[in-house]
Amino acid sequence: MTIADEHRAETPLPAPGEILHSGAAEYPGLDQWRSLPLKQQPDWRSHPDFDAAYQELSSNPPLVFAGEVDKLKARLAKVAAGEAFLLQGGDCAETFDGVTADKISARVKTILQMAVVLTYGASLPVVKMGRMAGQYAKPRSSDTETRGGVTLPSFRGEIVNGFDFTEESRIPDPKRMVTAYHKSASTLNLVRAFTEGGFADLRAVQQWNKGFMENPAHAKYEQIAGEIDRAVRFMDACGVEFDGLKRTEFYAAHEALLLDYERALTRIDSRTGQPYVTSGHFVWIGERTRDLDGAHVDYLSRVRNPLGVKLGPTTTPETALALIDKLDPQREPGRLTFISRMGAANVREKLPPLVEAVRDAGAQVVWVTDPMHGNTITAKNGYKTRRFDDVMDEVRGFFEVHRAAGTYPGGLHVEMTGDDVAECLGGSDVIDESAFDARYESLVDPRLNHKQSLEMAFLVAEALTQVT
Ligand code: PEP
Ligand code: MN
Repeated sequence: MTIADEHRAETPLPAPGEILHSGAAEYPGLDQWRSLPLKQQPDWRSHPDFDAAYQELSSNPPLVFAGEVDKLKARLAKVAAGEAFLLQGGDCAETFDGVTADKISARVKTILQMAVVLTYGASLPVVKMGRMAGQYAKPRSSDTETRGGVTLPSFRGEIVNGFDFTEESRIPDPKRMVTAYHKSASTLNLVRAFTEGGFADLRAVQQWNKGFMENPAHAKYEQIAGEIDRAVRFMDACGVEFDGLKRTEFYAAHEALLLDYERALTRIDSRTGQPYVTSGHFVWIGERTRDLDGAHVDYLSRVRNPLGVKLGPTTTPETALALIDKLDPQREPGRLTFISRMGAANVREKLPPLVEAVRDAGAQVVWVTDPMHGNTITAKNGYKTRRFDDVMDEVRGFFEVHRAAGTYPGGLHVEMTGDDVAECLGGSDVIDESAFDARYESLVDPRLNHKQSLEMAFLVAEALTQVT
């Protein structure tokens, strides 16, 4: 299959869905989560602005539509079957100030650049998804933070409170949910304009990749970069002109952590009568909130979006199978994605029992590697960081485990940015700790910068040519 096939490989798609009315959905069982253990939420129900914020979100238009969500599920079914690859990337935590044309376009550009390289490496279509347009809520290890004898609520992402360590900023404010909704709407609007309006043209993306290759540090990727360039020039010379060359699908994903927000943005699809979370196409449940009897698993089991679940090194095969039973009882291909985040030191030991149990149970999940969250360290100068080599080691381990089990390594989930930040260590154009003071921007976890992200795509492309 050539790059061009990415755009030809059409899946039979469901009819477009409509969500015509606004208003928080009424559906049997949808509010069951309210009586279950609920972790990682701000204590804000008695805040004087809570009801008004919730009502406003409930009556706002949906950010995404059921038909798009179903289309994504069909795409993910292809990934589950080993016929496509999934790329999920973006900030650990989006910020309101980060909603600018420059930052959004740099991030989308980087994801598109990575996707071209991966498409070539896998010889398969790549489903592109941003941790974007809704990635505002963060789980924290502690409810409070103490500095110099002062204890305040922890920062839970800008959808809940502010990062500044003052009482005013740290008190959870429900009106922030409405701001997050509008910021997500503008982000999504720009992403749709970019990816539908010519910005994603494969030939332009290839030109950007040439910029990356001009850096002598990246000379080792010359062969594969040259092959991609020839493939694109060949199509151009043949006069290949088709829609898929100029546009691409791009989906929005975030952690469905803040259930007040997700509940208020849930709508009933008028076509199927089923509930959908309309805050994003794909939502995932984090490592800290995936309790089988908890509120998050219950709530998300009742909506029709494709779902992810993060699986860390303590996950047992029994838990993985129980999550499948709860979240994907119909064994619907594309419904469930397991995002493993074991750490480079654990992946080769902890992932195989899970992959084998799921394989032997006959369940069709998408397996994705998040090589970031199991590899976080503290740098000597106090910054939270990750080593590029550890990240790549986990990716390699993930591929090895799937090759040994005869299962399909379906994709990558990374914290990355399109900007030239210094947050993760290493890469061929080396970042070291001395750059952190000037170029460390993330409020929460460290991200791969533009060059490190593309370098990862080249390395994964090399690994993919060995598995496909
Ligand atoms: C995250 O994706 O930013 C995150 C908090 O991950 P995890 O749930 O895997 O810890
Ligand atoms: Mn993170």
